[in-house]
Amino acid sequence: MANEGGGSATSDDLFPSTYDCLPKPFAGETLYSWCARYHRLNGSNNPRATSRQLFGHPTAGLRPELPFHLGNFQHNTNHNLGCLDDLLVQRTILGFYRPFLSSRGMAEIGQHLANGNSVAARALLGLSKDGQATRSLLRFCPECTKEQLAAYAISWWRTEHLWPSIAICQKHGCLLVQTKDELLNRASADFHLVHELDTSCLGPGVVATTRQRQLLAGIATWTMALVNQTDNHLNETALRFTYLLQAKSRGWLALDGSLRLKALQDSFLSQCANLESIPAFNFVRSAGGVNGGFLGSLFRQHPGRRHPSKHIVLMNFLFGEPEEFFRTYATVDGAISMNGLQSAQKLLTDSSRKLINLIEEAGHSVSSAAGVLDIPADEALAHLNRRNDVVRPRRRHIVGTPRENQLREMLREGGTRAEIAETLSIRPAFIKDYLARHPELKAQWEAAFTAKETERHRAQLLSVLNTHPGLPIKAIRRLPKNGFQWLYNNDREWLQKILPAIWKRYSQQQ
Ligand SMILES: [Zn+2]
Repeated sequence: MANEGGGSATSDDLFPSTYDCLPKPFAGETLYSWCARYHRLNGSNNPRATSRQLFGHPTAGLRPELPFHLGNFQHNTNHNLGCLDDLLVQRTILGFYRPFLSSRGMAEIGQHLANGNSVAARALLGLSKDGQATRSLLRFCPECTKEQLAAYAISWWRTEHLWPSIAICQKHGCLLVQTKDELLNRASADFHLVHELDTSCLGPGVVATTRQRQLLAGIATWTMALVNQTDNHLNETALRFTYLLQAKSRGWLALDGSLRLKALQDSFLSQCANLESIPAFNFVRSAGGVNGGFLGSLFRQHPGRRHPSKHIVLMNFLFGEPEEFFRTYATVDGAISMNGLQSAQKLLTDSSRKLINLIEEAGHSVSSAAGVLDIPADEALAHLNRRNDVVRPRRRHIVGTPRENQLREMLREGGTRAEIAETLSIRPAFIKDYLARHPELKAQWEAAFTAKETERHRAQLLSVLNTHPGLPIKAIRRLPKNGFQWLYNNDREWLQKILPAIWKRYSQQQ
């Protein structure tokens, strides 16, 4: 255990470094829990006296989530529980907030808690206004308690079970049991241990459906990942762009980078609305509001910080798994630190650029460009109409112009669609449609086309025969552009008339 006090003990040290009768803190145990065990071991029945002894303050140690006067505690315990940072992160709920706090903010809050200014620390965490999070709750997993008692004959409070977004035990999948709010009222505050509480101390049991349990387990996984994997704090602006970028990949961003709030809300509510009956998540109720409530606010520039639970609920909904979030966040954060906010904005609107390139550079029509990008054509069109600065290839009018006569003439002559399309600079698909609308012309074209093809293949075969007199038909068929097979399929009568000898020979070979 760290012993920053070091050296020899002075006479007024409560716990000199050589003092080995102190309870050892369990991994993941809250500071409040350690104090409760110390209080028991000390045989005291006056919690205020114990708090004063440890913290120099009658109630500073009786706050399970954020004890204060930690400077006094460190001094009085001779730093036996480790340095201030470890104490804050591992044994108070500050570890839960840390991913969303700058290192400066963290240091400031730490200082307030060290100096006993609990009000300032709570204000910086936004706890003074978030109704739910201001409640002093103690939560535990009954299975964890059983295991603790079996192994150590004592129970303790786990820090992670106090984190506001944790409502289910990660290890056992049990819903956490809450104590009654009154248990920690200022006047009656006491050092409690789980195994000593009788049922009159417990709040109403939470009932959860299978779907709710799934959501709570997902949220618990996200919470652990964020607390354990976030080295640097998550910046509000980068978070906002990360959410937008992910919304884009889920199809909830318009081409100009704006959010399709209604579609996002519908999907969110269909998946997460039933979280609202779980007390810690009743803020979810606001998601169906006009501006999307908490959901919309996380996508907008917004003064002040949002509660981490709100971020976590959104992350759990938007991303498949934490790794996906961390990757997207790194992309956004990298873009912002290299080239500023504009480059993050570009990540959101690159579909617009791609659409415009396809139209301006590659000559696609709006609908075909929209098809390439897998976006609805009417949306692409509306976007281009709004932009008003994209040069679109004008489709040349054909019907009712001299070019239509030209087209009809060429079709009557039986040219291929590809040739005609190229000569008249029109799409082959247009010719196909045009023929479908003019069946008489289509019949003429087909007849002329077949005649042309027949002529062409006859000429090919005659030319090959002239060049290779006496060559058996089997060998002729292997020569390039021999025309035989086409004539055999389409013009057999002519073959029989013109080449009786060869025909006979060929028939015998079949
Ligand atoms: Zn458990």
